[in-house]
Amino acid sequence: MSETIFSKIIDGSIPSQKVFENERIYAFHDIQPAAPVHVLIVPKKPIPSLNEIGEEDLAVIGEIHHVAVQLAEELGIAASGYRLINNCGADGGQTVPHLHFHLLGGAKLGALTGNSASHA
Ligand code: 5GP
Repeated sequence: MSETIFSKIIDGSIPSQKVFENERIYAFHDIQPAAPVHVLIVPKKPIPSLNEIGEEDLAVIGEIHHVAVQLAEELGIAASGYRLINNCGADGGQTVPHLHFHLLGGAKLGALTGNSASHA
């Protein structure tokens, strides 16, 4: 089983600012926030990326969305709006190979335009 920084955050060997935890999910503030509210929502199961989810993981993926809505409410960004993002793989900008979703809000976020690569 691959050991990532997020496994160590989940097991408490690396400290984090926890905002939510249950048997399946752990959520905490991002160490380098890209918005006034920037929380990472992580399944405790060390799934490397969205590419590796199986049918048995669909419930926790749904639950993560439910937790995101709950946290958006608690953190005061539900009404103003927010973004829930998964970065998958190198081109998607994923740097930690343990599935996670970014909950971002608290300010008007920039447009999601990808990069300047040609799509012709
Ligand atoms: P990714 O780029 O893989 O989608 O997102 C990884 C995120 O993890 C980044 O936003 C980064 O700031 C965050 N991160 C990396 N290491 C740590 C850490 O030790 N603690 C916390 N709280 N966040 C981390």
